Amino acid sequence: MVPSLRRELEFLHLLEAVAVAAYEAHTVDEALLRALDEVCAYTHWPVGHAYLPGSNGVLAPTGLWHLADPDRYASFRRSTEQTCLEPGVGLLRGVRLSQEPAWTADVSADPNFLRAAAAREVGLRGAFGLPVIVNGEAVAVLEFFSPELLEPDESLLELGRHIGLQLGRVMERQRVEAMLRAGEERIRAVIDTASDAFIGMDEAGMVTEWNRRAEETFGWLRDEVIGGAVTDLVIPEDLRSPHRAGLQRFLDTGQSAILGRTLELRGRARDGREFPVELTAWSTAVGSGVEFSAFIRDISDRKRFEAELSRQALHDSLTGLPNRTLFLDRLAHAVTRSERGLGPVTVLVLDLDNFNRFNDSLGHAAGDRLLASVAERLRDTIRPADTIARLGGDEFAVLLEDTGLADAIRVAQRLVEALDRPFVVGGRDVFARASIGVDCGDPGVQTADDLLTNADLAMYLAKGQGKARYAVFEAAMHEAAIGRLELEADLRRALDLGEFFVLYQPVVRLGDGSVVGMEALIRWKRPGGEVVNPDQFIPAAEETGLIRPIGHWVLQEACRQAAAWQAEHKPTPALRLSVNLSPCQLQDPEIVKAVERVLVTAGLEPGCLVIEITEGLLVSEPDVAVRRLADLKHLGVRLAIDDFGTGYSSLSYLRRFPVDVLKIDRSFVSALGGAPEDAAVAHAIVKLGHTLHLRVVAEGVETAAQLAELRALDCDYGQGYLFARPLTVEAMSAVLAADRAGHRLGKVGEADSKPPAIR
Ligand code: C2E
Ligand code: MG
Ligand code: MG
Repeated sequence: MVPSLRRELEFLHLLEAVAVAAYEAHTVDEALLRALDEVCAYTHWPVGHAYLPGSNGVLAPTGLWHLADPDRYASFRRSTEQTCLEPGVGLLRGVRLSQEPAWTADVSADPNFLRAAAAREVGLRGAFGLPVIVNGEAVAVLEFFSPELLEPDESLLELGRHIGLQLGRVMERQRVEAMLRAGEERIRAVIDTASDAFIGMDEAGMVTEWNRRAEETFGWLRDEVIGGAVTDLVIPEDLRSPHRAGLQRFLDTGQSAILGRTLELRGRARDGREFPVELTAWSTAVGSGVEFSAFIRDISDRKRFEAELSRQALHDSLTGLPNRTLFLDRLAHAVTRSERGLGPVTVLVLDLDNFNRFNDSLGHAAGDRLLASVAERLRDTIRPADTIARLGGDEFAVLLEDTGLADAIRVAQRLVEALDRPFVVGGRDVFARASIGVDCGDPGVQTADDLLTNADLAMYLAKGQGKARYAVFEAAMHEAAIGRLELEADLRRALDLGEFFVLYQPVVRLGDGSVVGMEALIRWKRPGGEVVNPDQFIPAAEETGLIRPIGHWVLQEACRQAAAWQAEHKPTPALRLSVNLSPCQLQDPEIVKAVERVLVTAGLEPGCLVIEITEGLLVSEPDVAVRRLADLKHLGVRLAIDDFGTGYSSLSYLRRFPVDVLKIDRSFVSALGGAPEDAAVAHAIVKLGHTLHLRVVAEGVETAAQLAELRALDCDYGQGYLFARPLTVEAMSAVLAADRAGHRLGKVGEADSKPPAIR
């Protein structure tokens, strides 16, 4: 073999050896060391060493050596390891700068070679340097020393160039790998400190990643689960086969209902506990296969919080019952189901009777306790499948699905009976009875709104019929309700347009027939000329609150008129004007001031005004009544109880109220003049009144026989068609003038009365 060819072959062997060594090396240091060894083995040079650039850019010695005889070269090694190479001239600095291999024939004689003395000492002369190039930059310089003088050798330079590039590629790879490893560590750190569980899974469904939060969430340690089947570890039993099928479908078709989305699912812990999770999963292509990763969060707390929020939004906090919103929602669904062929839907609306009275007298806290107890009892009375809700205040509603009218009525009856037993609140027995309206809808006809409105109307009817009962909705109620709405509008207009007027019915002293006063009675003249009696509009005015302005107007008008009569006729004693006040007018705390102002404006003595109230108020709200009546009394006005005997007021109340007058209801007066038993009540009232030092007025005296009996009873005053009907101002003026002239109305009794016509 020609020597040059042999050399070429040896070069190739060397290059190959360096490459293999470099690739086999695990670290850059190892790669460099093996390169030093291989080059020295090839060249038979005894010393090889690597310089690496330090952080400050200076080439720094390393511990990477090839030393054929470590002892022999120990001093050179020491010297090298103390020598950093600043950029500039000198063999290695030149190599680094030019990025080309270079040699020096004899470093021991080279003044630019810093370690010349050390080299001399150990007999090193020829030196060869080669740069390791990465990305066009010298990242290391290898130096080799020989005891011989080195002659320039082009092919050696070429070899050095190749070795440098080869090592550069290895260093590059190692660097990238190191960076990747560092990156992976960073990623692992991120994953491990993540607040969500992180699970990696391979195509076979086996766990490849499992972070700390996954350990906490699912109760399995990482080491226990790596390589285990994800399905068996975290997925509830009923979801396992769908999960497997989904994975298979993705592997077959690339389609997935889960990947790339955030979903709420159920997870399963090691102890079998299942809980809601939020899952974000994705897939990553790895080589020809695919890997799956998922972040999983236990959302039990959030779900609990959401459930609590929705419970609060849809339930009444006092009673725990569904609220109006939830009731309407269920009702709407029930109506839809009913339209689809399920039986009829029935709604019951239940309103406690006189609950305000209870609230006012015992306080709101006790009122709340009562409401809660009522709710509980109502709930116990209906079937669990039915819905009972608190619509607000003291109003409840029940929804019965697939229930006909007959069954609904039975439920209503049961509810009425349930509330017939007292409740114990604050140590005392109290009653909370209710009026109930029932509407049973025809499937496909009534909407949810209709059902509720109709049941409401029926409930008002039940109240009107005397409370503590139920009423079933009928179509006529609707018309009545519409009629009431129209009436309300008409009443407002009547007030604005001055369609009201007042009639006055004389009150007569029974003893001598003289007129002692008059009662103001309102009338309404509608645009067509029809005159409407108060019975037909006062209830509506009371319901709508319009009674306040209307009542105020009557009071003003009547007081003004009475003052005028007083001034005109100057009777002694002064005439007394009776004005009716509705319970709701008396509930208004401003009423006392209003009466006072009206009296002052009209110039009427307070003692000339008699305020008539019905027993109803005394019974339903005795505390309010006592307070208000005392204040009115304080003004100097007189107080009368109207329609006495009809309102079931306990007699003991009478002593609490500062009243002056009792008016015997017409029904008892009309019983007079006949059988003695029928007359008993009127007798008793007169006696009672006198015992309490009250004046007694008999209402509705129509016949002479009644008058005679009242006189015999020593009843003080009377009012009735026998004396006069309610009269216009002019007619009343005429009566007053006649009375002054000595024409007593009482005398009319002898012949049957011809009441003056209302004009
Ligand atoms: P009330 O206060 O008991 O008035 C007596 C009612 O009996 C009056 O009916 C009167 O016309 C009627 N009446 C009087 N004598 C006889 C009689 O001999 N036979 C018969 N059958 N009836 C007689 P009216 O005027 O229709 O008033 C009815 C009720 O309307 C009144 O009963 C009173 O409660 C109420 N009312 C009248 N005006 C007002 C008012 O201005 N404000 C308020 N809040 N209520 C009023
Ligand atoms: Mg009256
Ligand atoms: Mg009356």
